[in-house]
Amino acid sequence: MSHWSSLIRDVDDFPKPGILFKDITPVLANGPAFAQAMAELAAPWRGLGLDAVIGIESRGFILGAALAHELQVGFVPVRKPGKLPARTLSLDYALEYGRDRLEIHADALAPGARVVVVDDVLATGGTLRTALALARQQGAEVAGVAVLVELAFLGARAGWDDPAPLVATLAF
Ligand code: 5GP
Repeated sequence: MSHWSSLIRDVDDFPKPGILFKDITPVLANGPAFAQAMAELAAPWRGLGLDAVIGIESRGFILGAALAHELQVGFVPVRKPGKLPARTLSLDYALEYGRDRLEIHADALAPGARVVVVDDVLATGGTLRTALALARQQGAEVAGVAVLVELAFLGARAGWDDPAPLVATLAF
């Protein structure tokens, strides 16, 4: 089988004109490719005594739940506003145009819990930074950040000043 990354598809002008979107759904749809991608995503985080995986809505849920299962730890969702049923912590963050907000259940993590935060794609890094801040507001210790794909040409790694290591399975 060729490497799973050959299934990533470029979609022009999504979600807006001028954006070239990396579509990972063909990787998810292919059993052996998905398994290979998950093995690579999980490898750096095995044996670290983590307590939970935090996944960011929505593709971070798919990868995060699979990663939590691989690592045999719990899964905690970070969601868009108004989706989580119980009491939440929330944080606003800047988008290229405008603002958005992410939320986490206020009781989702025990103080001192060691977590890895997962998303499918690192673009500017704003989404991941916000998720890290939410995890730390709960007293969690962020062992690192795992992304399947880093859009390296956007330069987020150069500006990554967070102490949590940023681990990308693949960079474009
Ligand atoms: P950032 O906050 O790093 O600018 O944007 C990252 C968020 O946008 C992630 O949640 C990611 O899912 C989504 N995203 C941005 N660009 C792409 C892309 O090209 N492909 C995919 N699959 N997601 C993207």
